[in-house]
Amino acid sequence: MTMHQSDTIERPEVALPNLPSGRMLIGGAWVAGASGETIAVEDPATGRVFAHVDAGGAEDVDRAVRVARAAFESPAWSRMRPLDRARLLETIARKIEENADELALLESFDNGKAVEHAKAVDVPAAAEIFRYMAGWCARLGGTVNPISGDGRQYHSYTVHEPIGVVGLIVPWNYPLAMAAWKLAPALAAGCAMVLKPSEVTPLTALRLAELCLEAGVPEGVVNVITGYGHIAGQALVEHPGVDKIAFTGSTRVGKDIVRTCANDLKRVTLELGGKSPSLIFADADIEKAAVGAALAIFFNSGQVCLAASRLYVEQSIYDKLMDAIIEVTKTFKLGNGRDPQTMIGPLVSRAQQDRVLGYIEKGKAAGNELLLGGSKGLDSGYFVEPTIFHNTQPDSAVVREEIFGPVLVATPFTDADEVVRTANDTRYGLAANIWTRDLSRAHLVARRLQAGIVWINTHGMNDPSAPFGGFKESGWGREVGEEGVLNYTETKTVTALLGD
Ligand code: NAD
Repeated sequence: MTMHQSDTIERPEVALPNLPSGRMLIGGAWVAGASGETIAVEDPATGRVFAHVDAGGAEDVDRAVRVARAAFESPAWSRMRPLDRARLLETIARKIEENADELALLESFDNGKAVEHAKAVDVPAAAEIFRYMAGWCARLGGTVNPISGDGRQYHSYTVHEPIGVVGLIVPWNYPLAMAAWKLAPALAAGCAMVLKPSEVTPLTALRLAELCLEAGVPEGVVNVITGYGHIAGQALVEHPGVDKIAFTGSTRVGKDIVRTCANDLKRVTLELGGKSPSLIFADADIEKAAVGAALAIFFNSGQVCLAASRLYVEQSIYDKLMDAIIEVTKTFKLGNGRDPQTMIGPLVSRAQQDRVLGYIEKGKAAGNELLLGGSKGLDSGYFVEPTIFHNTQPDSAVVREEIFGPVLVATPFTDADEVVRTANDTRYGLAANIWTRDLSRAHLVARRLQAGIVWINTHGMNDPSAPFGGFKESGWGREVGEEGVLNYTETKTVTALLGD
């Protein structure tokens, strides 16, 4: 399958290598959407449209799901030796690495993030999940069950079978990595899939799917439908031919998906929003904690589900720590993602910029005190400068709601009980970080935090082997790690009577 350039793609001023075709991938072919409608893709650093993708709908989704079902049942995929599947995943990992520069540039145009960050974080994360999941292909063995039964002799075992056709829906903040986090375990388990990237950032998902084809994944196993969430995404969630939905996105849409999937009890895993806390104790290394807490909120312009957007600092070091955070944050250069000096790129879209600036206005109106930032920072493009509130109002929106932008709220605390109580006082439970030299206290506090991921004296260290997901309204299930691949399987118990 070779990629062809679509006539609809307008080239940006900076040359972009190998733009995806602008068509959807169904059954190994690049096909046009049934509606003929397209979605413009903007460069958030300039607001300029540089590509169009097809606006897929229910008809396209239906076609992709049928193709996926046929591919799932085809001997080419269902009988492929697990070690050959592993080789395929390893090849995809290598292809991602070979195309790292192109993928990073594409991600920067699509999402706005710094090319250097995409090269250092997004692209390696995508490659590594395929390499890690390659290892699971031939290891998804079951168990032999030592059943007591009724005294006769039985042989009982379990097998993990691929769940079937899966619908994979991903957001715009880490478009390539999030697509990879879903495709890799689904492929390792032997599923067939329909991926629906965000309408705001569809390009690297298309390119990744093309790399899967080039690596030798049989046609129809990986399909990509571009389109709006409430149309293409909704059609995928509703489709009776889909056995499972794996969704990463907002808690609001996640709840809608659960309601829809209740109709036929489709399997669902959800990676949703967060309002994660940083807890800094007085004995912490202040310099490291300040850098860590600043990066924990401002990296990727705060558009990270894990973003530690609430900062709690022990009273005795509060002023010193806030001065240090401000100093660090002032060194973060706002700019176009193609500028190698850029630390903070634009937000992904004008809608997101408006949303974040709206929260800042609400924060001020509610009586929170602005300590840093608060405006766009740059005039062209969808920027918002790193913003810090303190002397906060505990019930205000900036303290309680996920903003998904570079906005931090800071509050002092007096003891561990108080900070654990406040940190847990949220409907979310994705992540938390703790800064202290007292490791015993760190682990004790970690036990009490309602969060799926807790970091001690660090933040944001993810690995394909470490389960990722949240408590409470931050999601259902875990991605990556062993649990991540098992979520794409059904467990079957087989029991045979031996003898009479
Ligand atoms: P979103 O929920 O608006 O959209 C996510 C995806 O769902 C997109 O592909 C969108 O087109 C699709 N979608 C929208 N409505 C749909 C519907 N009714 N049915 C089916 N699909 C639909 O989220 P977003 O704005 O793209 O991303 C930001 C959110 O994602 C934040 O809340 C963030 O915390 C969350 N997120 C979570 C994680 C995690 O791992 N926990 C990772 C990244 C982002």
